[in-house]
Amino acid sequence: MTNTSGDDATGRDAREAVKRYGREMLEKGLTKATGGNVSRRTGPEGFAISPSGVPYPEIEPEDVPILDLDGDVVHDGKKPSNEVDMHRLVYAARDDVGGIVHTHSPYASTFASLNDPIRPSHYLIAFIGDKVPVAEYVTYGTEALGRKAVAALGEEYNACLLANHGVLAVGDTLGSALETAEMVEYCARIHYQARAIGEPELLPDEEVDHLREKFADYGEER
Ligand code: 13P
Ligand code: ZN
Repeated sequence: MTNTSGDDATGRDAREAVKRYGREMLEKGLTKATGGNVSRRTGPEGFAISPSGVPYPEIEPEDVPILDLDGDVVHDGKKPSNEVDMHRLVYAARDDVGGIVHTHSPYASTFASLNDPIRPSHYLIAFIGDKVPVAEYVTYGTEALGRKAVAALGEEYNACLLANHGVLAVGDTLGSALETAEMVEYCARIHYQARAIGEPELLPDEEVDHLREKFADYGEER
């Protein structure tokens, strides 16, 4: 995946994207109230992130703060999300990432509470990797949680679960990160349902590899 973000000096596009995709996350049922957060890279050194605790329908572009990768505010907005360090550390570790979505979506959070990775029972898991791995539990809003998330994502995964908490999804754009978060929730739901009535048949590793190659150039950029 190639991060295609690049912005004007004030990060106007990034702020608009945070407003738009924050709302979409809520409307798609991937979070409740002010839970979760979204961010978009503004260039190699910075990102715009949703403000903390502001209802998504009320976020305006000027509320969205822009920070550098040291965590210093470059353009003021409202107080940055509690998870600012998690977003910052992922951008620092993965230069292919242009957007990040953190959700509390219910089926995926169920597996997060079991500390159980989502296994490849449905072919769409290949959008994420050979599974959705779980980052070890750490209190929300800490730099340590960010380090666990970076370790779980590694170089390859497009999402991970945060134990007893929710989901972190990344993409080359914020739109694709949101799509991945939806995919995680869909795969979690299918896996949950399959386990409720039987033992899901898992796809073999070679087939997951094959799917990952096929998905590499699937679809239009969002
Ligand atoms: P913020 O409103 O500060 O982004 O926190 C929500 C959240 O999901 C913390 O993990
Ligand atoms: Zn959260």
